[in-house]
Amino acid sequence: MQLSRREFLKLAGVSAAGAALFTACSIPEKELLVQSPARIPEDVLDGDESWYASVCRQCPAGCGIIVRVMEGRAKKIEGNPDYPVNRGKLCARGLAGVQALYHPDRIKGPMRRTGARGSGQWQQITWDQALNDLVGRLKQLRGSAADTVVLAHEPLRGPMSLLVDRFTRTYGSERLAYEPMDQAALRAALKTAFGEDVVPEFDIQNASYVMSFGADFLETWLSPVRYNRHYGEFRQGANRKRGTLVHVEPRFSLEAANADQWVPVRPGTEGVLALSMAYVLMSDGSADARAAASITAGAGARALASFSPERVESVIGVPAARIQELAREFASHQPSIAIGGGSAAAHTNGYTNMLAVYSLNYLVGNVGKRGGVLLNPASPLKDVPATSGATPFSAWQKLVERLRTGQPKPVNLLLVHGANPLYGLPAEVNAGDALGKAQYIVSFSSFMDETTAQADLILPDHTYLESWGGDVPEPGPGHQVVGLQQPVVKALYDTRAFGDVLLTVAEEIGPDMAKALPWRNVREMVRDSVRELHQARRGSVTAAEFEVFWNKALQQGGWWDSNARSSASPTAPIFSKPPALPRYAGSAPEYPYHLVIFPSLSMTDGRGAHLPWLQALPDPISTVVWRTWVEINSKVAKQMGLVEGDIVRVEAPNGKSIEAPVYPHPGVSPEVIGIPAGQGHSSYTNYAAGRGANPLSIIAPLTDAETGGLAWGATRVRVSATGRRMPIPKFEGGAVEARQLPGAPVAPVTRG
Ligand code: SF4
Repeated sequence: MQLSRREFLKLAGVSAAGAALFTACSIPEKELLVQSPARIPEDVLDGDESWYASVCRQCPAGCGIIVRVMEGRAKKIEGNPDYPVNRGKLCARGLAGVQALYHPDRIKGPMRRTGARGSGQWQQITWDQALNDLVGRLKQLRGSAADTVVLAHEPLRGPMSLLVDRFTRTYGSERLAYEPMDQAALRAALKTAFGEDVVPEFDIQNASYVMSFGADFLETWLSPVRYNRHYGEFRQGANRKRGTLVHVEPRFSLEAANADQWVPVRPGTEGVLALSMAYVLMSDGSADARAAASITAGAGARALASFSPERVESVIGVPAARIQELAREFASHQPSIAIGGGSAAAHTNGYTNMLAVYSLNYLVGNVGKRGGVLLNPASPLKDVPATSGATPFSAWQKLVERLRTGQPKPVNLLLVHGANPLYGLPAEVNAGDALGKAQYIVSFSSFMDETTAQADLILPDHTYLESWGGDVPEPGPGHQVVGLQQPVVKALYDTRAFGDVLLTVAEEIGPDMAKALPWRNVREMVRDSVRELHQARRGSVTAAEFEVFWNKALQQGGWWDSNARSSASPTAPIFSKPPALPRYAGSAPEYPYHLVIFPSLSMTDGRGAHLPWLQALPDPISTVVWRTWVEINSKVAKQMGLVEGDIVRVEAPNGKSIEAPVYPHPGVSPEVIGIPAGQGHSSYTNYAAGRGANPLSIIAPLTDAETGGLAWGATRVRVSATGRRMPIPKFEGGAVEARQLPGAPVAPVTRG
C-alpha cells in the first residue's frame, strides 16, 4: 500500500520513533535495540533512566545536549560531554529547555481565527482541515498573477535550511530570516575580513591576550558556552600563564566586570579605536609588514594618520596614551586576538567598525594560528549550509511596506516560523498596522507570541525535544561537525513538526514539489543527508552498514572529524574608503544619553521570556529578576534626584517611549543608559505578557550604511522622572543579613 505523507504522519507518529541512547564513548550493540520512549506505556514505572543525545535549540549556537528521560518524560538536560562545540557544558537557557516542552501555555493543536484579527478568538480544528486550508491557498496562488507568498523564519542552517530553501525556490516564493538584534554588519565584515561565509573559530583558550570590542562572549554572543569554556582555560588552564582580557564597551557588562581592563568608549567608535591601534602598530614597526601593506593598499601608517591617537582621543573618549599602551600590549602579549560584535556592530558604521577590529588580527600575524583566528572548514554535507545569515533589517522594512500598501506586489500569504517580527521590529516601522492588512497569515509557532496572535491559521510546531533535525554548528570548533537532533519524548500534544508539514504540503501542491522534496518526513531527510558521511569512512563514527552508522551517530549526538580543517589562507582586507563615524538619531543637547540595549543573559532578544526559570535568573551585574531596569550612572542619577526604583520615562526622538525603574550604577558611563532586551511582551504566555518594557520598540530605524542591518545601538534618548516608584526585584541587597544574638552559643560546623 502506498501511503501519502499526510497519511504516513497520521498513522505512525514517526517523528518520535527510533530515538537512540547516548553513550559517552563506545556503544554496546544491545543499545541499538532499545525501545524508543515514544512507545513505552506511561504506566510502566520501572525507575530506569535513559539519556538521549540531541542538539539544543534555545539559541543559534547549537550545543550538544543529553536528555535524561524516565518513563517517557524528559527530566533534565545536560551538556553532551563528547560534542566538540560545548564539551559537556550548558548554559541556563539550555537547561530551561524542559520548561518549553512542558509549558502550560503551549498551543496544543491547530487553530483557525474566528473573531477579528488579534481578538484572541480561535476555533480548534483538525490537522486535515488545517492542511486542506493551507494546501488550497498555496495551490490557488501558485502561478496566478497574485502569487506572492512569503515565508518568514528564524535564521536557519543545516538540513532545515536545505528543506526551506528547496520549498521556497521550487514553489516560487520568497523567504526572509529574522534576527531582532540584527548581526548583518558583523557577518558581512567577517566575510570580508576572512574570505569565507562561515564564522571562524576564535581560539580564546590558547590566547595570551584577548581584546573584545563589544562582544558579549560570556553571555549570548555567537557560541557563549564554548567561549565560557575557552575563557576558563584562558584564565586558569593548567601549565599556562593567566591570559589578559581587555573589554571595550560603553556599558559595564559581565565581560567588563571580568576584564583586567575595561575601556568605556563612545558608542559606535570601537572601530576608530581599532584603527588608531593599527596606526600605532604600523608606526612602531611592530605590525606584520604584509598585512599592513594590504590594509593600507601599500601606503603604510600614513594612510591611517587621521586615526593617530592624538587625533581621535576626543572622538573615542579614551586618552591618547592609553590607546598607545593598548596597541603595544596587544602586539607584545602573543598570541593575541581581537574579537568584536554586539553593540559595537549595531551602528550606522557597524560594518567598518567590525572590519577594523578583525583586521587587527592580521597586523599581529595571528590569523590561522593557535591562539588567534582559526578558519572553519566548509560544511561536510553537500547542499547543506553551515551558515545561517539573517535578512538585513532594510529588507524587513520593505516587506512591512509591501504588506501595508500592496505595492509593488501584495503579499497574499505570509507564513511565519520561529520569528516574531511584531515584537522585535522598531515601533516606528509600524509592523502591527502592516500585519493587520496582510491578506492571510499562517503561524507555525508553539506559543502565542505577538505575531502569532495576528495569524489567521496556526499549525503549531513540536518543540525541539520532540523533533528530528540536524545541525552544522556555526561557529564550528575549527573542524567539521554535524549535530543530530532526535525526539527524546513522544509529542505531548496534537502538534506537528514544521518540516514535516512543509513536506506534506509539498507533495500535495504538485509533482515538481514532491520531486524537489522527495522525503516522507524530516527524519528521512536527515538520514539521507548524512549518508555521505557514512560513505566517507572518516571521523568519529564509521561503520560498514549505514544502519549501524546512523544509530551510532544518533547515540553520540552527531559526527565530527577533528582532522577536517580549513586549508584557506586569507589575506588582510583593504580599506577601500575611510571608515565613517557613527550617526545617531537625536541631538546631544535634546537627547543627552546613548541608549545601549543589551541582550539579556537569560532571555536574549526576548525569545526566552516565556520560561519562568529564565525570568527568575538574576542578571549577573544588577541581579534583577522578572523586570526591565534602566542602568544609569550613579552620579547622574544623584544630579537628577533619582534613586533606585524610581520609574523613569525613556524617550527617543521619534516620540516613542518606555517606562522602567532606574538602577544607578557607578560603572555606567555618564553619557549612556543601558536597558536589557527581552521583556515588554504584549503576548507570549502568562509568564511574559505585560511584564517590563521592550527597548527595541523605541529605537530609530537607522541602518548600517554597508549592509542595511538594523543599527540598534544608534538611538539617543532623554530620561525623565515619572514621580512613581517600585521596588526592583533583585538578589543583591535583598536578603537581610542574619545577626547573631549577643551571648548566643556558636556551633562550629565542619565538612564531612
Ligand atoms: S549557548 Fe545555551 S542556549 Fe545556546 S545552544 Fe548552547 S546551551 Fe543552548
